Amino acid sequence: MSHSLVTMSYIVAAILFILSLSGLSNQETARKGNYYGMLGMAIAIIATTLSGSVTAYGILIAALIVGGAIGARAAVKVEMTQMPELVAIMHSLVGLAAVLVGYANFMDHTISISGVEKTIHEIEIYIGILIGAITFSGSVIAFGKLSEKISGKPLLLPGRHWVNLLLLITTVILGYIFIQQADSIDNAIIPLAIMTAIALIFGIHMVMAIGGADMPVVISMLNSYSGWAAAATGFMLSNDLLIVTGALVGSSGAILSYIMCRAMNRHFLSVIAGGFGTTGGGEAAVIEGEVQPISAEETAEFLKDAKNIMIIPGYGMAVAQAQHTVNEITKLLRAKGKKVGFGIHPVAGRMPGHMNVLLAEAKVPYDIVFEMDEINDDFPNVDVSIVIGANDIVNPSALNDPNSPIAGMPVLECWKGETTIVLKRSMASGYAGVGNPLFVLENTRMLFGDANTTMQAVLKALKE
Ligand code: NDP
Repeated sequence: MSHSLVTMSYIVAAILFILSLSGLSNQETARKGNYYGMLGMAIAIIATTLSGSVTAYGILIAALIVGGAIGARAAVKVEMTQMPELVAIMHSLVGLAAVLVGYANFMDHTISISGVEKTIHEIEIYIGILIGAITFSGSVIAFGKLSEKISGKPLLLPGRHWVNLLLLITTVILGYIFIQQADSIDNAIIPLAIMTAIALIFGIHMVMAIGGADMPVVISMLNSYSGWAAAATGFMLSNDLLIVTGALVGSSGAILSYIMCRAMNRHFLSVIAGGFGTTGGGEAAVIEGEVQPISAEETAEFLKDAKNIMIIPGYGMAVAQAQHTVNEITKLLRAKGKKVGFGIHPVAGRMPGHMNVLLAEAKVPYDIVFEMDEINDDFPNVDVSIVIGANDIVNPSALNDPNSPIAGMPVLECWKGETTIVLKRSMASGYAGVGNPLFVLENTRMLFGDANTTMQAVLKALKE
């Protein structure tokens, strides 16, 4: 393939990636966005393969088959609730790839450049490996935390900010030594290897120190890091498309992190520094009071009497796969002339947009799905709020208990409505591990059980 044809293909692929990102920003265009992304990636792979930079076709095809098969299997097998873990582990692979490409580039004798160009190339390698290693180990820990293999509680080592600062300064010094000694692979590999070990430890330490409630920001931040790692790989390989694609992922991930922080009323820096705000203050308040359980039939009665109903889905709806039953109930209630809306908290579930994806899958109409800011002031007019497997996102202590780990996070203020019915299996706490005073309020009823089973019972009672 001629050089200009490769460049043309890269431009087309880059445009498709931009269209893909803009498509993914809205539920109605998300499917189209995915197609643009797939087409762009197909063009990118074909153009790179035929660009003349590839000689070992056998290895490439074998790697494509093995990698493609693993990816396809993971995509088919993954449960909707495991999606965030899958995303985290994918990010770790991008980081690992950047580290491996960095080392391969460093040891490549065939690259013949000198002077400033050579120094720039060495800096690219150093930074690429640094970002890649942090992304790799940080994403592995994020995977562990999301899949609950590692505790969601922040690990707060004494003097951790000083440890981080020390690691950062050591990395800069090692970088200087690396550049000085880069002429000899045997000498330069030592600072490079020490830096890689430090970056791996830094990634682990950074994510371990972040509490469960701040995990959404970490997910989008690692997404951003994986983009920068890919961009760094692009610089090392002199591949323009990889630089553009990496920068797109890096900057969109950074914007998403900012939006997430704003939605949770957190400062980006304090989330990244990890554990800030979790050390001060006393113990979170203990929840005391009487729980008022309710049956599915009684829930149906409440719904029959209500005119204005708000449904608040959370992670438990994903676990129970209750979205289809919820959609059936919604259709029935709307057919009876009731106003039904969905209130979506920006961090409901386990990844950005988790609830929107589930509701779209169940074909809930988009125009009755509202973001938190759009409907939070309407709760005084709501007759019945149905909270389906949500906990942290409807916790009033975020607003009135300054010692709560989620203090300051905006929440869906459903208790301001006439009645709130909470569907969950027990009195267990949510992801952030804090008790929820909503469950013992005067106007709250608890419908215990698996959300899909109880919703089906409510549907049956509504039909009778
Ligand atoms: P929570 O994790 O706070 O609560 C979910 C609730 O669902 C639990 O209390 C659980 O109670 C209940 N549940 C679980 N399974 C079922 C089931 N089968 N049937 C009925 N109920 C069930 O979820 P929220 O959505 O309210 O809040 C999200 C939390 O996750 C926030 O703390 C957020 O910061 C964090 N997070 C969000 C991310 C994002 O990007 N959106 C990423 C990572 C973390 P019980 O066991 O009693 O049934």
